[in-house]
Amino acid sequence: MSTQRINKFLPSQRPIGRVAIIGRPNVGKSTLINRIVGKQVAIVDARPGVTRDQKILTANWQGFDFEIIDTGGWLASGGTLEGKISDQAESAAKQADLIIFMTDVTVGITDEDQAVADMLRRFSMPVIQVVNKADSPARDLDAWEFLRLGFGEPLNISALHGRLTGDLLDRIVTELQKLHPDQTYSDHDSGTDETEEFEKELSKRTSFSVAIVGRPNVGKSTLFNRLIGDERSITHDQAGTTTDSVDTVVETEIGTLKFIDTAGMRRKSRIEGGTEYYSMVRTLRSIDEADVSLLVIDGTQGVTHQDQRLAERIDAAGSPVVVLLNKWDLLTTEEKLTVNDQVDDRLAYLSYAPVLRISALSGLGVTKLWRALSDSIVAYRNRIPTRELNVLLQQAQAKSAPRGSKILYGVQGATDPPTFTLFTTKELSTGYLRYLERQLRERFALGPTPIKLRVRRRSSR
Ligand code: GDP
Ligand code: GDP
Repeated sequence: MSTQRINKFLPSQRPIGRVAIIGRPNVGKSTLINRIVGKQVAIVDARPGVTRDQKILTANWQGFDFEIIDTGGWLASGGTLEGKISDQAESAAKQADLIIFMTDVTVGITDEDQAVADMLRRFSMPVIQVVNKADSPARDLDAWEFLRLGFGEPLNISALHGRLTGDLLDRIVTELQKLHPDQTYSDHDSGTDETEEFEKELSKRTSFSVAIVGRPNVGKSTLFNRLIGDERSITHDQAGTTTDSVDTVVETEIGTLKFIDTAGMRRKSRIEGGTEYYSMVRTLRSIDEADVSLLVIDGTQGVTHQDQRLAERIDAAGSPVVVLLNKWDLLTTEEKLTVNDQVDDRLAYLSYAPVLRISALSGLGVTKLWRALSDSIVAYRNRIPTRELNVLLQQAQAKSAPRGSKILYGVQGATDPPTFTLFTTKELSTGYLRYLERQLRERFALGPTPIKLRVRRRSSR
């Protein structure tokens, strides 16, 4: 391991790759180069490039050297626009490992941008699309338009003010490392670094909070005690977010789980839960606080009206849920079939949720719970690549077009839960949104999490 590790504080011996910044005049290419090269690093090498007016500069970021082809002046020379763009892109294609395709958010997509995009698509090297002059976050919304150029989610930066230029540099170094991993690693051998190793290990683990909810007597405490009694878990208490609440933190093989407001469920400190109203308030609070809820239903009672209300409340909170049909040991075959039907029927809108049949008392089926919990949380934090999302949106529309509207493009604006914003010419019907949700779930295996679709109307250009 030690010979393979990267140390970001050690300067590299040789450049890890070469980058070209391509775009029409005035988008801000020189400004970006000045920021990257001029400010932080001496110009190690400024020899004339292969093409006239072209310089190759060396930049350094996080200890990695890389080269930038300064294409200044290419487009200023004579000839037709297509000719100039073609010259520029072709020359870059021959020399660069990675292309930064720059556009200008204050102007929008021009024919020249389109021509550059068409040209770049023919080459095989990776392209990072950058939308420049996004001087403030307010500009980011306008930047989504640039998705239409087909290079995925653009990075919105301000070369002039330095907004997100560090992120761009991170991406450049990451992309170049992917291209030449061997060279990068050998250049950065630096022995061991325990802290970094430890942090990496930690970041792999998940940590999330869980609410166990359900009507009185369904078996919540029995389940909870079984879960924390599991020999794979190490448990300790932690003061909850409200004064009298106690959370239980459990180390398990799927990560650190915090069970919210569990004082009333602990074996020794069992207190009878006060008025029903009070316990409902606590339940709702824990649902809002949780990353994932366990909805415990008493199988012998079937899915009741109150269970439905709770399910609705969890769904509205937007967090994933695992449905547990408890006391399964007490049910006859016929009763089991009835309860299964009730779940399909009465909890239909939670159709993404895993449903487990368990006996908290005997432990039957409970081990499956860990897996269901971790799947739910992974799904909840899922992010779909923008390019793939837009390919799917085009295909879904080709299969069945929305009536009177058109989806121009979409982005996943948020995770927890996955939330998609669709930019359309007109509103979409609820039926069509449901169709899209099915398509999304099918294609991306979104898993046991709710998802949200938002529609924003845009005039098409
Ligand atoms: P190039 O022709 O692509 O190299 O573009 P330049 O770097 O010469 O920039 C063209 C103009 O845009 C200059 O007036 C810059 O000051 C301006 N500019 C560049 N980057 C930004 C930016 O991030 N925000 C704003 N507001 N202006 C910028
Ligand atoms: P809570 O009020 O939801 O915390 O429910 P408890 O955990 O106190 O359980 C209520 C009653 O149901 C207790 O008598 C438990 O022993 C019983 N119980 C809980 N889970 C099961 C189960 O899976 N099977 C059976 N047969 N009884 C159970």
